[in-house]
Amino acid sequence: MTDLHRLSIRELSEGLKQAQFSSRELTEHYLKRIAKIDPKVKSYVTVTAEQALIEADAADVALKSGHAHVLAGIPLAHKDIFCTQGIKTTAGSKMLDNFISPYDATVVAKAKAAGLVTLGKVNMDEFAMGSTSESSYFGATGNPWALDHVPGGSSGGSAAAVAADLAPIATGTDTGGSIRQPASFCGLTGLKPTYGRVSRFGMIAYASSLDQGGPMARSAEDCAYLMNVIAGHDAKDSTSVNKEVDDYVANLNGTPVKGLRIGIPKQYFNVAGLDADVKARVEESLKKLEEMGAILVEIDLNMTEAYVPTYYLIAPAEASSNLSRFDGVRYGYRCENPVDLMDLYKRSRSEGFGAEVQRRILIGTYALSAGYYDAYYVKAQKVRRLIQQDFLKAFENVDVIAAPSAPTTAYKIGANLSPTEMYLGDIYTLAVNLAGLPAINAPVGFDKDSLPVGLQLIGNYWSESQLLSIVHQYQQNTDWHTKRAAIAEENA
Ligand code: GLN
Repeated sequence: MTDLHRLSIRELSEGLKQAQFSSRELTEHYLKRIAKIDPKVKSYVTVTAEQALIEADAADVALKSGHAHVLAGIPLAHKDIFCTQGIKTTAGSKMLDNFISPYDATVVAKAKAAGLVTLGKVNMDEFAMGSTSESSYFGATGNPWALDHVPGGSSGGSAAAVAADLAPIATGTDTGGSIRQPASFCGLTGLKPTYGRVSRFGMIAYASSLDQGGPMARSAEDCAYLMNVIAGHDAKDSTSVNKEVDDYVANLNGTPVKGLRIGIPKQYFNVAGLDADVKARVEESLKKLEEMGAILVEIDLNMTEAYVPTYYLIAPAEASSNLSRFDGVRYGYRCENPVDLMDLYKRSRSEGFGAEVQRRILIGTYALSAGYYDAYYVKAQKVRRLIQQDFLKAFENVDVIAAPSAPTTAYKIGANLSPTEMYLGDIYTLAVNLAGLPAINAPVGFDKDSLPVGLQLIGNYWSESQLLSIVHQYQQNTDWHTKRAAIAEENA
């Protein structure tokens, strides 16, 4: 079979169960594609071919027994921020270029337990700080829709791998948009769950009060399958919430679009940098949802201007604390021939971290320092609460909130945006993390350069099922999610 990479997760699951193909055949098919096509896309940092085939054979045994998990034997790629026992985990940094974790992240362990086959680890912005994946120590990844453009970030490798059909699904993480924005740039569906829904254990920390893992795939249905595996309470993550997990697949048609109240924040559609094509595609998608029975309601989100400054204070503050563990002593990069302990710390960190990471550590350390703590950090936390209240007030009147996922489509590689220009590109995604809410990106068309545009739907706490269901029904009525980049059409 030459077109196994065109099958959805449900079709793969059925094909494996009915023995139309084996997990070994499917895994070899993907490994072949990676070997031929990934040198152009550069989405993988590490390909675990040998291990993948062992896992595939084990899945085939389980499938024969008739007791396999519904996803057994299906390959996936993990963002290189999830610790994988025995396999290098770099977080896109020179600091961890040689780091082999002694344990699996909970997300990885759950995927393994379900019999999913790990194809490898995919590229990302260094320590998940960025929106282009260019800050990776391992170099830039190409956007499958136009290889001289970025796939977005920080989960750019995950997005590029799925969009080029080099993995049917991938894990990502989202601290301020890193699942939704690359999904938007690469024409994929990506879900950022409610904070606490997916365990952060073994997920290398960027900003712990904002970080959340989630699925990236072609469709809401594919995302739902992966969510069913990775969601849930974990005693090893004290912020994971002990709340029953929905069956996201069973609920795919569970939320009626008819009568659904969709909030359209006035402030979001008047943002200076909002590209005209992005605006037009998002408005067309809302029109479509309206045709399907949804009611569009204009709402106010008055704190919009505060999103970027608040996030870019809190996230670096938490990062400066989290990244203090990389000291050249215990694990990670260590400089050559240190003259004393201070020299070891200083040089290990200045040689091991890239420019963006160092910038954020400096900003965060400053914001947390004794003289400025109240003026910056405490103030930002208060504004954060106001942002959350703004959303809760909106949800008294609407079921979900619609927005673009990003003000533009994918940038050119090397566009060299200034840090502030890049931060402003996060305007639509940051508040969701500050408030801890779930949100989803769905592809809704293309701009004049044939680059994908994404619609974001933001839900109230624990509404992952509703978000997946709304997008699923939209996808039953449209075909944007079935469009494939030319490179994905290439055969290995
Ligand atoms: N672009 C944002 C940042 O650089 C978000 C990144 C993320 O979600 N990990 O912080």
